[in-house]
Amino acid sequence: MSDSPGLMRAERVRRLKAGVGESRGGFVAYVMYASHRVNHNYALEYAVQRANELRKPVAVIFPIIEKKPHPNLRRFRFMLENLLKMRRELSRRNIKLVVRKNFEFTSLLKEAGLVVVDRPYLTHQRRFVDEVVVNAGSEVVMVEGDVVVPVEVASQRPEPYARTIRPKIVKNLEKFLEPLPAQAPQTSSLQLDMPSWDEETVEDYLKGLDVDPTVEPVGYFVGGEDEAMRRLTVFVSSRLDVYAEKRSDPGAEACSELSPYLRWGMVCPVQVLLAASKKFGFDNVNMQSLVNELVVWRELARNAAVFNPLYGSYDGLPEWARQTLENHASDRREHVYSLHELENAETHDKYWNAAQRELQRTGKIHNYMRMYWCKKLIEWTDHPRTAFEYAVYLNDRYGLDGVDPNSYLGISWCFGAFDRPFFETKIYGKIRKMTEESLKRKPGINKYLNLHTAGGGGPAGI
Ligand SMILES: Cc1cc2nc3c(=O)[nH]c(=O)nc-3n(C[C@H](O)[C@H](O)[C@H](O)COP(=O)(O)OP(=O)(O)OC[C@H]3O[C@@H](n4cnc5c(N)ncnc54)[C@H](O)[C@@H]3O)c2cc1C
Repeated sequence: MSDSPGLMRAERVRRLKAGVGESRGGFVAYVMYASHRVNHNYALEYAVQRANELRKPVAVIFPIIEKKPHPNLRRFRFMLENLLKMRRELSRRNIKLVVRKNFEFTSLLKEAGLVVVDRPYLTHQRRFVDEVVVNAGSEVVMVEGDVVVPVEVASQRPEPYARTIRPKIVKNLEKFLEPLPAQAPQTSSLQLDMPSWDEETVEDYLKGLDVDPTVEPVGYFVGGEDEAMRRLTVFVSSRLDVYAEKRSDPGAEACSELSPYLRWGMVCPVQVLLAASKKFGFDNVNMQSLVNELVVWRELARNAAVFNPLYGSYDGLPEWARQTLENHASDRREHVYSLHELENAETHDKYWNAAQRELQRTGKIHNYMRMYWCKKLIEWTDHPRTAFEYAVYLNDRYGLDGVDPNSYLGISWCFGAFDRPFFETKIYGKIRKMTEESLKRKPGINKYLNLHTAGGGGPAGI
Protein backbone atom coordinates (compact mmCIF):
# COMPACT_ATOMS: atom_id res chain seq x y z
CA MET A 1 0.00 0.00 0.00
CA SER A 2 1.45 3.35 -1.00
CA ASP A 3 1.25 6.24 1.44
CA SER A 4 -0.26 8.44 -1.21
CA PRO A 5 -3.04 6.97 -3.31
CA GLY A 6 -2.21 9.08 -6.36
CA LEU A 7 -4.87 11.67 -5.60
CA MET A 8 -2.48 14.00 -3.91
CA ARG A 9 1.21 14.52 -3.45
CA ALA A 10 2.83 11.95 -1.17
CA GLU A 11 4.39 14.79 0.85
CA ARG A 12 1.00 15.57 2.36
CA VAL A 13 0.77 12.11 3.88
CA ARG A 14 2.68 10.78 6.89
CA ARG A 15 2.29 7.41 8.61
CA LEU A 16 2.35 7.96 12.38
CA LYS A 17 1.80 4.36 13.42
CA ALA A 18 2.23 1.13 11.50
CA GLY A 19 -0.63 -1.35 11.28
CA VAL A 20 -0.26 -4.79 12.81
CA GLY A 21 -0.70 -7.48 10.17
CA GLU A 22 -3.81 -7.56 7.97
CA SER A 23 -6.27 -4.82 8.93
CA ARG A 24 -9.27 -6.45 10.64
CA GLY A 25 -11.14 -3.34 11.80
CA GLY A 26 -14.59 -2.94 10.32
CA PHE A 27 -14.23 0.59 8.95
CA VAL A 28 -11.85 3.41 8.17
CA ALA A 29 -12.07 6.29 10.63
CA TYR A 30 -11.25 9.84 9.61
CA VAL A 31 -10.88 12.02 12.71
CA MET A 32 -11.81 15.48 11.44
CA TYR A 33 -9.94 17.80 13.74
CA ALA A 34 -8.57 20.72 11.71
CA SER A 35 -10.10 20.59 8.22
CA HIS A 36 -13.79 21.19 8.94
CA ARG A 37 -14.94 20.74 5.36
CA VAL A 38 -16.35 18.13 3.02
CA ASN A 39 -14.97 19.57 -0.22
CA HIS A 40 -11.31 19.72 -1.11
CA ASN A 41 -10.43 17.83 2.05
CA TYR A 42 -7.22 15.88 1.54
CA ALA A 43 -7.62 13.70 4.63
CA LEU A 44 -11.20 12.78 3.74
CA GLU A 45 -10.31 11.87 0.16
CA TYR A 46 -7.35 9.87 1.39
CA ALA A 47 -9.62 8.00 3.81
CA VAL A 48 -12.21 7.28 1.10
CA GLN A 49 -9.56 6.01 -1.28
CA ARG A 50 -8.01 3.71 1.31
CA ALA A 51 -11.44 2.52 2.45
CA ASN A 52 -12.32 1.60 -1.13
CA GLU A 53 -9.07 -0.34 -1.48
CA LEU A 54 -9.76 -2.16 1.80
CA ARG A 55 -13.43 -2.69 0.81
CA LYS A 56 -14.60 -1.02 4.01
CA PRO A 57 -16.86 1.93 4.72
CA VAL A 58 -15.41 5.23 5.93
CA ALA A 59 -16.83 7.17 8.88
CA VAL A 60 -15.97 10.73 9.83
CA ILE A 61 -15.46 11.19 13.55
CA PHE A 62 -15.96 14.75 14.80
CA PRO A 63 -14.86 15.36 18.40
CA ILE A 64 -16.26 18.43 20.14
CA ILE A 65 -13.59 19.25 22.68
CA GLU A 66 -14.85 21.52 25.45
CA LYS A 67 -11.47 22.19 26.99
CA LYS A 68 -9.88 23.88 23.99
CA PRO A 69 -8.49 27.41 24.46
CA HIS A 70 -11.33 29.93 24.75
CA PRO A 71 -14.33 27.62 24.48
CA ASN A 72 -16.85 30.43 24.13
CA LEU A 73 -20.23 30.87 22.56
CA ARG A 74 -18.89 32.86 19.62
CA ARG A 75 -16.31 30.31 18.58
CA PHE A 76 -18.50 27.25 19.24
CA ARG A 77 -21.51 28.65 17.39
CA PHE A 78 -19.37 29.29 14.32
CA MET A 79 -18.04 25.73 14.45
CA LEU A 80 -21.47 24.15 15.07
CA GLU A 81 -23.19 26.07 12.26
CA ASN A 82 -20.75 24.38 9.94
CA LEU A 83 -21.09 21.00 11.62
CA LEU A 84 -24.83 20.79 10.89
CA LYS A 85 -24.22 21.55 7.23
CA MET A 86 -21.41 19.01 7.01
CA ARG A 87 -23.64 16.23 8.36
CA ARG A 88 -26.08 16.76 5.48
CA GLU A 89 -23.33 17.02 2.91
CA LEU A 90 -21.53 13.88 4.12
CA SER A 91 -24.76 11.96 4.26
CA ARG A 92 -25.33 12.80 0.57
CA ARG A 93 -21.97 11.12 -0.04
CA ASN A 94 -23.06 8.05 1.98
CA ILE A 95 -20.60 8.89 4.73
CA LYS A 96 -21.64 8.75 8.37
CA LEU A 97 -20.64 11.63 10.62
CA VAL A 98 -20.11 10.49 14.19
CA VAL A 99 -20.11 13.38 16.66
CA ARG A 100 -18.68 12.68 20.10
CA LYS A 101 -18.03 14.95 23.04
CA ASN A 102 -14.43 15.38 24.21
CA PHE A 103 -12.55 12.07 24.09
CA GLU A 104 -15.61 9.81 23.99
CA PHE A 105 -14.58 8.84 20.47
CA THR A 106 -11.40 7.00 21.41
CA SER A 107 -13.09 3.60 21.81
CA LEU A 108 -14.02 3.82 18.12
CA LEU A 109 -10.37 4.11 17.20
CA LYS A 110 -9.75 0.64 18.61
CA GLU A 111 -12.36 -0.83 16.27
CA ALA A 112 -11.15 0.93 13.11
CA GLY A 113 -8.98 -0.79 10.51
CA LEU A 114 -7.24 2.47 9.66
CA VAL A 115 -7.29 5.88 11.30
CA VAL A 116 -6.71 9.07 9.33
CA VAL A 117 -6.25 12.43 11.06
CA ASP A 118 -5.60 16.04 9.95
CA ARG A 119 -2.30 17.75 10.63
CA PRO A 120 -2.61 20.66 13.06
CA TYR A 121 0.31 22.82 14.23
CA LEU A 122 -0.29 24.28 17.68
CA THR A 123 1.02 22.53 20.78
CA HIS A 124 -2.34 21.55 22.27
CA GLN A 125 -3.46 20.34 18.85
CA ARG A 126 -0.38 18.18 18.44
CA ARG A 127 -1.17 16.63 21.81
CA PHE A 128 -4.60 15.74 20.46
CA VAL A 129 -2.98 13.87 17.57
CA ASP A 130 -0.74 12.06 20.08
CA GLU A 131 -3.90 10.89 21.88
CA VAL A 132 -5.30 9.58 18.61
CA VAL A 133 -2.11 7.63 17.97
CA VAL A 134 -2.05 6.16 21.49
CA ASN A 135 -5.68 5.06 21.28
CA ALA A 136 -5.73 3.67 17.75
CA GLY A 137 -5.58 -0.09 17.39
CA SER A 138 -4.38 0.10 13.80
CA GLU A 139 -2.36 2.10 11.34
CA VAL A 140 -2.60 5.88 11.79
CA VAL A 141 -1.97 8.28 8.93
CA MET A 142 -1.79 12.07 9.22
CA VAL A 143 -2.64 14.21 6.19
CA GLU A 144 -1.50 17.82 5.84
CA GLY A 145 -4.36 19.55 4.08
CA ASP A 146 -4.55 23.13 5.32
CA VAL A 147 -1.48 24.54 3.63
CA VAL A 148 -0.48 24.87 0.02
CA VAL A 149 3.09 23.61 0.50
CA PRO A 150 3.57 21.09 3.33
CA VAL A 151 5.67 22.64 6.11
CA GLU A 152 8.74 20.40 5.86
CA VAL A 153 8.73 20.52 2.06
CA ALA A 154 9.16 24.28 2.23
CA SER A 155 11.82 24.20 4.92
CA GLN A 156 13.33 21.97 7.58
CA ARG A 157 14.36 24.78 9.91
CA PRO A 158 12.91 27.85 11.62
CA GLU A 159 12.68 30.62 9.03
CA PRO A 160 13.54 34.06 10.43
CA TYR A 161 11.87 36.17 7.73
CA ALA A 162 9.22 36.04 5.02
CA ARG A 163 12.01 36.76 2.53
CA THR A 164 13.90 33.60 3.53
CA ILE A 165 10.93 31.25 3.20
CA ARG A 166 9.38 32.96 0.13
CA PRO A 167 11.62 31.41 -2.58
CA LYS A 168 11.30 27.98 -0.93
CA ILE A 169 7.52 28.22 -1.07
CA VAL A 170 7.24 29.82 -4.47
CA LYS A 171 9.35 27.15 -6.18
CA ASN A 172 6.96 24.47 -4.87
CA LEU A 173 3.72 26.33 -5.45
CA GLU A 174 2.69 24.97 -8.81
CA LYS A 175 3.36 21.39 -7.77
CA PHE A 176 0.89 21.59 -4.86
CA LEU A 177 -1.83 23.61 -6.55
CA GLU A 178 -3.91 20.72 -7.77
CA PRO A 179 -7.66 20.25 -7.88
CA LEU A 180 -8.84 17.44 -5.60
CA PRO A 181 -11.73 15.48 -7.06
CA ALA A 182 -14.28 14.00 -4.64
CA GLN A 183 -14.50 10.20 -4.79
CA ALA A 184 -17.52 8.07 -4.11
CA PRO A 185 -17.17 5.56 -1.29
CA GLN A 186 -17.88 2.06 -2.58
CA THR A 187 -19.52 1.07 0.69
CA SER A 188 -21.90 3.37 2.52
CA SER A 189 -21.26 3.89 6.23
CA LEU A 190 -24.68 5.37 6.96
CA GLN A 191 -25.97 2.13 8.48
CA LEU A 192 -22.99 1.54 10.76
CA ASP A 193 -24.03 0.99 14.34
CA MET A 194 -22.11 3.86 15.94
CA PRO A 195 -23.97 6.17 18.28
CA SER A 196 -23.49 9.80 17.35
CA TRP A 197 -24.44 12.93 19.25
CA ASP A 198 -26.87 14.32 16.66
CA GLU A 199 -28.91 17.44 17.34
CA GLU A 200 -31.18 19.39 15.02
CA THR A 201 -29.98 22.86 15.90
CA VAL A 202 -26.92 24.72 17.13
CA GLU A 203 -28.87 25.71 20.27
CA ASP A 204 -29.52 22.05 21.07
CA TYR A 205 -25.80 21.31 20.89
CA LEU A 206 -24.96 24.35 22.98
CA LYS A 207 -27.32 23.18 25.76
CA GLY A 208 -25.12 20.14 26.18
CA LEU A 209 -21.81 21.99 26.23
CA ASP A 210 -19.90 23.89 28.87
CA VAL A 211 -19.06 27.07 26.96
CA ASP A 212 -18.36 30.61 28.13
CA PRO A 213 -21.50 32.60 27.29
CA THR A 214 -19.89 36.00 27.84
CA VAL A 215 -18.35 36.23 24.37
CA GLU A 216 -21.42 36.68 22.24
CA PRO A 217 -21.85 35.24 18.76
CA VAL A 218 -21.44 37.61 15.81
CA GLY A 219 -23.80 37.90 12.88
CA TYR A 220 -21.07 39.13 10.55
CA PHE A 221 -19.55 35.69 10.06
CA VAL A 222 -21.73 32.60 9.76
CA GLY A 223 -20.03 29.22 9.92
CA GLY A 224 -20.07 26.95 6.87
CA GLU A 225 -18.22 25.90 3.75
CA ASP A 226 -21.04 27.45 1.73
CA GLU A 227 -20.39 30.81 3.42
CA ALA A 228 -16.67 30.48 2.76
CA MET A 229 -17.33 29.79 -0.92
CA ARG A 230 -19.76 32.70 -1.14
CA ARG A 231 -17.15 35.05 0.31
CA LEU A 232 -14.50 33.61 -1.96
CA THR A 233 -16.70 34.32 -4.98
CA VAL A 234 -17.25 37.93 -3.85
CA PHE A 235 -13.53 38.33 -3.25
CA VAL A 236 -12.49 37.02 -6.66
CA SER A 237 -15.21 38.85 -8.59
CA SER A 238 -15.09 42.28 -6.95
CA ARG A 239 -12.11 42.68 -4.63
CA LEU A 240 -9.14 40.82 -6.05
CA ASP A 241 -8.55 43.41 -8.78
CA VAL A 242 -7.71 46.05 -6.13
CA TYR A 243 -6.14 43.69 -3.57
CA ALA A 244 -2.50 44.78 -4.08
CA GLU A 245 -3.31 48.48 -4.08
CA LYS A 246 -5.89 48.63 -1.31
CA ARG A 247 -5.45 45.70 1.05
CA SER A 248 -3.74 47.95 3.60
CA ASP A 249 -6.52 50.56 3.58
CA PRO A 250 -8.86 49.74 6.49
CA GLY A 251 -11.82 51.43 4.78
CA ALA A 252 -11.43 49.74 1.41
CA GLU A 253 -13.29 46.58 0.52
CA ALA A 254 -10.27 44.79 -0.86
CA CYS A 255 -9.55 41.84 1.43
CA SER A 256 -11.12 38.40 1.35
CA GLU A 257 -12.26 38.28 5.01
CA LEU A 258 -11.70 34.55 4.81
CA SER A 259 -9.50 34.26 7.90
CA PRO A 260 -12.16 32.69 10.19
CA TYR A 261 -12.94 30.10 7.49
CA LEU A 262 -9.27 29.33 6.88
CA ARG A 263 -8.76 29.11 10.64
CA TRP A 264 -11.39 26.38 11.03
CA GLY A 265 -10.48 24.62 7.81
CA MET A 266 -13.86 25.46 6.23
CA VAL A 267 -11.95 26.39 3.11
CA CYS A 268 -8.56 25.23 1.90
CA PRO A 269 -5.95 27.78 0.78
CA VAL A 270 -5.51 25.71 -2.38
CA GLN A 271 -9.19 26.32 -3.21
CA VAL A 272 -8.67 30.05 -2.71
CA LEU A 273 -5.67 30.19 -5.04
CA LEU A 274 -7.28 28.00 -7.67
CA ALA A 275 -10.37 30.24 -7.70
CA ALA A 276 -8.25 33.40 -7.87
CA SER A 277 -6.07 31.97 -10.64
CA LYS A 278 -9.15 31.67 -12.87
CA LYS A 279 -9.20 35.46 -12.90
CA PHE A 280 -5.50 36.38 -12.98
CA GLY A 281 -2.24 34.64 -13.84
CA PHE A 282 0.44 34.30 -11.17
CA ASP A 283 2.45 37.17 -12.67
CA ASN A 284 -0.41 39.57 -11.94
CA VAL A 285 0.34 42.02 -9.12
CA ASN A 286 -2.82 41.11 -7.17
CA MET A 287 -2.03 37.42 -7.37
CA GLN A 288 1.50 38.06 -6.19
CA SER A 289 0.15 39.99 -3.24
CA LEU A 290 -2.35 37.24 -2.43
CA VAL A 291 0.33 34.55 -2.63
CA ASN A 292 2.45 36.67 -0.31
CA GLU A 293 -0.23 36.85 2.40
CA LEU A 294 -2.13 33.60 1.97
CA VAL A 295 0.84 31.37 1.35
CA VAL A 296 4.14 33.04 2.34
CA TRP A 297 3.08 34.73 5.59
CA ARG A 298 0.45 32.14 6.50
CA GLU A 299 2.87 29.27 5.99
CA LEU A 300 5.70 31.11 7.72
CA ALA A 301 3.36 31.06 10.73
CA ARG A 302 3.10 27.26 10.46
CA ASN A 303 6.87 26.99 10.13
CA ALA A 304 7.24 29.00 13.35
CA ALA A 305 4.72 26.85 15.24
CA VAL A 306 6.55 23.69 14.19
CA PHE A 307 10.16 24.82 14.65
CA ASN A 308 10.08 27.38 17.46
CA PRO A 309 9.14 25.59 20.70
CA LEU A 310 8.44 28.99 22.31
CA TYR A 311 6.28 30.37 19.47
CA GLY A 312 3.38 32.43 20.75
CA SER A 313 5.16 33.63 23.87
CA TYR A 314 7.23 36.66 24.79
CA ASP A 315 10.15 34.33 25.44
CA GLY A 316 9.93 33.06 21.87
CA LEU A 317 10.86 36.49 20.44
CA PRO A 318 14.32 36.95 18.92
CA GLU A 319 16.99 37.91 21.44
CA TRP A 320 17.57 41.42 19.97
CA ALA A 321 13.85 42.23 20.17
CA ARG A 322 13.45 41.16 23.80
CA GLN A 323 16.66 42.95 24.72
CA THR A 324 15.64 46.27 23.21
CA LEU A 325 12.16 46.05 24.76
CA GLU A 326 13.68 45.24 28.16
CA ASN A 327 16.07 48.19 27.81
CA HIS A 328 13.06 50.46 27.47
CA ALA A 329 10.71 48.69 29.88
CA SER A 330 11.09 51.42 32.49
CA ASP A 331 10.55 54.33 30.06
CA ARG A 332 7.71 56.53 31.27
CA ARG A 333 4.32 55.58 29.78
CA GLU A 334 1.80 58.37 29.35
CA HIS A 335 -1.15 55.99 29.54
CA VAL A 336 -1.34 52.61 31.22
CA TYR A 337 -4.62 50.77 30.74
CA SER A 338 -6.03 47.78 32.58
CA LEU A 339 -7.10 44.70 30.65
CA HIS A 340 -10.70 45.62 31.48
CA GLU A 341 -10.33 49.09 29.93
CA LEU A 342 -8.70 47.65 26.85
CA GLU A 343 -11.29 44.92 26.48
CA ASN A 344 -14.04 47.55 26.58
CA ALA A 345 -12.32 49.89 24.11
CA GLU A 346 -11.96 52.61 26.76
CA THR A 347 -8.70 54.25 25.70
CA HIS A 348 -8.10 57.87 24.67
CA ASP A 349 -7.33 56.72 21.09
CA LYS A 350 -10.32 56.61 18.73
CA TYR A 351 -8.44 54.50 16.16
CA TRP A 352 -7.48 51.87 18.69
CA ASN A 353 -10.99 51.79 20.17
CA ALA A 354 -12.44 51.29 16.68
CA ALA A 355 -10.15 48.31 16.09
CA GLN A 356 -11.06 46.77 19.44
CA ARG A 357 -14.76 47.25 18.64
CA GLU A 358 -14.25 45.60 15.27
CA LEU A 359 -12.77 42.62 17.09
CA GLN A 360 -15.62 42.60 19.62
CA ARG A 361 -18.37 42.85 17.03
CA THR A 362 -17.11 40.92 14.02
CA GLY A 363 -14.54 38.48 15.39
CA LYS A 364 -11.56 39.84 13.45
CA ILE A 365 -9.64 43.06 12.79
CA HIS A 366 -8.49 44.45 9.48
CA ASN A 367 -4.82 43.56 9.02
CA TYR A 368 -3.48 47.11 9.03
CA MET A 369 -5.48 48.05 12.12
CA ARG A 370 -4.44 44.83 13.79
CA MET A 371 -0.80 45.86 13.61
CA TYR A 372 -1.59 49.26 15.10
CA TRP A 373 -3.87 47.69 17.74
CA CYS A 374 -1.16 45.29 18.89
CA LYS A 375 1.78 47.69 18.82
CA LYS A 376 -0.06 50.24 20.95
CA LEU A 377 -0.30 47.68 23.75
CA ILE A 378 3.49 47.96 24.13
CA GLU A 379 3.01 51.67 24.88
CA TRP A 380 0.04 51.30 27.22
CA THR A 381 1.02 48.46 29.55
CA ASP A 382 3.55 48.36 32.36
CA HIS A 383 5.85 45.88 30.61
CA PRO A 384 6.15 44.44 27.07
CA ARG A 385 5.58 40.96 28.49
CA THR A 386 2.19 42.12 29.79
CA ALA A 387 1.47 43.68 26.41
CA PHE A 388 2.23 40.38 24.67
CA GLU A 389 0.00 38.45 27.05
CA TYR A 390 -2.88 40.92 26.65
CA ALA A 391 -2.58 40.77 22.86
CA VAL A 392 -2.76 36.97 22.85
CA TYR A 393 -5.65 36.95 25.31
CA LEU A 394 -7.80 39.51 23.46
CA ASN A 395 -7.02 38.19 19.98
CA ASP A 396 -7.71 34.56 20.90
CA ARG A 397 -10.75 35.25 23.05
CA TYR A 398 -12.66 37.45 20.62
CA GLY A 399 -11.19 36.47 17.26
CA LEU A 400 -13.05 33.88 15.25
CA ASP A 401 -9.73 33.49 13.48
CA GLY A 402 -7.79 33.44 16.79
CA VAL A 403 -5.90 30.46 18.24
CA ASP A 404 -4.20 30.00 14.91
CA PRO A 405 -0.48 30.01 14.04
CA ASN A 406 -1.24 33.36 12.31
CA SER A 407 -2.33 34.82 15.65
CA TYR A 408 1.06 34.23 17.21
CA LEU A 409 3.04 35.20 14.11
CA GLY A 410 1.09 38.47 13.83
CA ILE A 411 1.57 39.32 17.49
CA SER A 412 5.24 38.32 17.48
CA TRP A 413 5.80 40.46 14.38
CA CYS A 414 4.49 43.48 16.27
CA PHE A 415 7.18 42.77 18.88
CA GLY A 416 10.00 42.58 16.33
CA ALA A 417 10.01 38.94 15.21
CA PHE A 418 10.31 38.37 11.42
CA ASP A 419 11.18 42.07 11.15
CA ARG A 420 14.41 44.07 11.34
CA PRO A 421 15.58 46.56 13.95
CA PHE A 422 14.63 50.21 13.30
CA PHE A 423 16.04 53.46 14.70
CA GLU A 424 15.63 53.62 18.46
CA THR A 425 12.65 55.40 20.04
CA LYS A 426 11.23 55.62 23.55
CA ILE A 427 9.38 52.55 24.88
CA TYR A 428 9.64 50.61 21.60
CA GLY A 429 13.43 50.64 21.46
CA LYS A 430 14.44 49.28 18.05
CA ILE A 431 11.01 47.76 17.36
CA ARG A 432 9.17 49.27 14.38
CA LYS A 433 6.67 51.84 15.61
CA MET A 434 3.27 52.70 14.11
CA THR A 435 1.76 56.10 14.61
CA GLU A 436 -1.59 57.81 14.22
CA GLU A 437 -0.02 59.82 11.40
CA SER A 438 0.36 56.69 9.25
CA LEU A 439 -3.31 55.87 9.87
CA LYS A 440 -4.48 59.35 8.94
CA ARG A 441 -2.87 58.93 5.51
CA LYS A 442 -5.14 55.98 4.67
CA PRO A 443 -7.95 57.20 2.36
CA GLY A 444 -10.56 54.96 4.03
CA ILE A 445 -9.70 55.64 7.66
CA ASN A 446 -12.74 57.85 8.35
CA LYS A 447 -15.03 55.29 6.80
CA TYR A 448 -13.45 52.70 9.10
CA LEU A 449 -13.97 54.93 12.15
CA ASN A 450 -17.61 55.50 11.23
CA LEU A 451 -18.23 51.79 10.85
CA HIS A 452 -16.80 51.07 14.28
CA THR A 453 -18.21 53.90 16.38
CA ALA A 454 -19.25 53.26 19.97
CA GLY A 455 -22.99 53.40 19.28
CA GLY A 456 -22.91 51.84 15.82
CA GLY A 457 -23.70 48.29 14.91
CA GLY A 458 -20.58 47.55 12.89
CA PRO A 459 -20.37 46.73 9.20
CA ALA A 460 -23.16 45.11 7.21
CA GLY A 461 -22.42 41.59 5.96
CA ILE A 462 -20.83 41.09 2.55
C1 LIG B 1 -1.41 41.41 15.86
C2 LIG B 1 -1.91 40.51 14.76
C3 LIG B 1 -2.71 39.45 15.05
C4 LIG B 1 -3.18 38.61 14.02
N1 LIG B 1 -3.99 37.58 14.35
C5 LIG B 1 -4.46 36.76 13.38
C6 LIG B 1 -5.31 35.68 13.70
O1 LIG B 1 -5.65 35.47 14.87
N2 LIG B 1 -5.73 34.87 12.69
C7 LIG B 1 -5.39 35.11 11.39
O2 LIG B 1 -5.80 34.36 10.51
N3 LIG B 1 -4.57 36.13 11.07
C8 LIG B 1 -4.11 36.97 12.01
N4 LIG B 1 -3.30 38.01 11.67
C9 LIG B 1 -2.91 38.20 10.27
C10 LIG B 1 -3.87 39.08 9.43
O3 LIG B 1 -4.14 40.24 10.12
C11 LIG B 1 -5.16 38.37 9.09
O4 LIG B 1 -4.90 37.10 8.56
C12 LIG B 1 -5.98 39.14 8.05
O5 LIG B 1 -6.26 40.42 8.52
C13 LIG B 1 -7.26 38.40 7.78
O6 LIG B 1 -8.10 39.15 6.95
P1 LIG B 1 -8.49 38.63 5.52
O7 LIG B 1 -8.95 37.23 5.61
O8 LIG B 1 -9.40 39.62 4.91
O9 LIG B 1 -7.06 38.66 4.82
P2 LIG B 1 -6.65 38.68 3.30
O10 LIG B 1 -5.79 39.86 3.09
O11 LIG B 1 -7.80 38.51 2.41
O12 LIG B 1 -5.67 37.42 3.19
C14 LIG B 1 -6.13 36.10 2.89
C15 LIG B 1 -5.63 35.15 3.95
O13 LIG B 1 -4.21 35.16 3.99
C16 LIG B 1 -3.76 34.99 5.33
N5 LIG B 1 -3.06 36.20 5.77
C17 LIG B 1 -3.29 37.48 5.38
N6 LIG B 1 -2.42 38.31 5.99
C18 LIG B 1 -1.63 37.54 6.77
C19 LIG B 1 -0.55 37.81 7.64
N7 LIG B 1 -0.08 39.06 7.83
N8 LIG B 1 0.01 36.78 8.30
C20 LIG B 1 -0.42 35.52 8.13
N9 LIG B 1 -1.44 35.20 7.30
C21 LIG B 1 -2.03 36.20 6.64
C22 LIG B 1 -5.00 34.82 6.20
O14 LIG B 1 -5.28 33.46 6.36
C23 LIG B 1 -6.07 35.52 5.37
O15 LIG B 1 -7.38 35.09 5.64
C24 LIG B 1 -2.81 38.87 12.68
C25 LIG B 1 -1.98 39.96 12.40
C26 LIG B 1 -1.54 40.78 13.41
C27 LIG B 1 -0.66 41.95 13.06
